[in-house]
Amino acid sequence: MKPFEHKKTVNSGKEFESACRRQGLALTIQRRAIYEALASRSDHPTADQVFDAISERLKGVSRTTVYRVLETFVGIGIAKKISNPESKARFDADTSRHHHLTCLACGCVLDMHAANLNNLQWPTAINNEFEIIDYSITFTGYCSDCRKRTATDDQHA
Ligand SMILES: [Zn+2]
Ligand SMILES: [Zn+2]
Repeated sequence: MKPFEHKKTVNSGKEFESACRRQGLALTIQRRAIYEALASRSDHPTADQVFDAISERLKGVSRTTVYRVLETFVGIGIAKKISNPESKARFDADTSRHHHLTCLACGCVLDMHAANLNNLQWPTAINNEFEIIDYSITFTGYCSDCRKRTATDDQHA
């Protein structure tokens, strides 16, 4: 597998259901649809993109509800919020440890799976200051589409 290959999310619907049950969260149609919309894609959508994906299917759902439900998913640990250079939060249903490649031109976020980044050693002195629970590394750069586009633009210039 190429380290930056798109990988389907590891969270199944079953994990979603058991997480909701564990947290005493009702399995509403809205929550299920929002989770499915997030879990079915690997492009780390913003809350707006999730809303756009389900608003046709789920009449009457509001943008605010989608925001709130996504935050709830993060709170119960079945989704993660990804730090990225944009101001808008992006969401990921893949909660396994992995890292991200963020394009500075188009803003796309790709997954990066690299075993050597999953067992990083940090100075032990840090443990006195801060208890590290999890981490994810964001690499910034330019995706292949944007690099191709720039190359074509240069040829035409
Ligand atoms: Zn790009
Ligand atoms: Zn990811």
